[in-house]
Amino acid sequence: MALKTALVGIGKIARDQHIPAIEANAEFELVATASRNAEVEGIPAFRNLASLLENVPEVDCVSLCTPPSARESDARLAAEAGCHVMLEKPPGTTPAEVLDLASFVERSGVTLFASWHSREAAAVRATRDWLKGKLVREVRIDWKEDVRFWHPGQDWIWQADGFGVFDPGINALSILTAIHPRPLVVSEASLSIPENRDTPVAAQMLLHDSEGTKVSVELDWLEEGSPQWDIRILADDKEALLCDGGARLLIDGEETESGPDREYQALYERLAGLIASGSSDVDLSPMRIVSDAMAVADHEVAPPFEW
Ligand code: NAP
Repeated sequence: MALKTALVGIGKIARDQHIPAIEANAEFELVATASRNAEVEGIPAFRNLASLLENVPEVDCVSLCTPPSARESDARLAAEAGCHVMLEKPPGTTPAEVLDLASFVERSGVTLFASWHSREAAAVRATRDWLKGKLVREVRIDWKEDVRFWHPGQDWIWQADGFGVFDPGINALSILTAIHPRPLVVSEASLSIPENRDTPVAAQMLLHDSEGTKVSVELDWLEEGSPQWDIRILADDKEALLCDGGARLLIDGEETESGPDREYQALYERLAGLIASGSSDVDLSPMRIVSDAMAVADHEVAPPFEW
């Protein structure tokens, strides 16, 4: 029988990805939504999760698509009601908050899945396999996109708990931490913050690992035209380019792996597997890099940002 699923926060990602992915997976059935201002045609709608759970107590699973700072209290509410919980990325505001949530959910005996959709991009696993046994010399990440195109009117991303350019940048870090063989530490960072906003519009970071591999990261939200979502890796005497957000892998300029976008289908398949095995998946390593970068960074004031 399909898991009766509720979606919370009916915005861009809920509509673009979660609803189609749930519809495409027979193990899930969308039975209700909770959103302050939005509804999905034909699906019972509530203004908040508390009233959803009161009116639709048969819900098995709650998927939270709200901004990161709005998720923790709903995740606790859902777990207390005996529901499995899926979190959009980044899973919360700080690593400590999510760790505390994870132990609460564990005590409730349900599954918590802190999802990282970019890890499911078509060429990520092939890149990780290609790197096995190789000496990684250097990594360079360029994650540049136009915030006005990709996040139109989303003011929450500019609030202190909204992550700014790290909202997309953490996707690159989620791939990096999935493919890189060792933990990474932030050596230095600099943030460029518009004078009328609280979060960065651009960031640079240098990371290193225990073997001396250096990773440079350049994030920019004012890149007009096509986005650049590239991870370039020098390993042994070869160069790998994982591009298009992880969808294509080129080795020395030749494409060796690519595939259609089924990141969210893969996330819901993984969620079903976690629920069936009674386990959780909460990896905070991408979030720790962001928190550490924020802690050590130099700040530079950038011109005001207006939509
Ligand atoms: P969004 O379009 O702003 O949608 C989020 C929805 O959450 C809002 O429409 C709003 O609906 C609800 N909400 C509840 N509390 C809120 C609050 N305090 N502030 C603002 N909205 C609140 O954002 P999104 O792009 O879907 O992103 C949501 C999450 O998905 C983010 O963590 C983001 O990183 C992740 N994500 C986004 C994308 C993308 O392409 N946009 C891709 C992958 C992952 P109501 O007003 O109806 O309550």
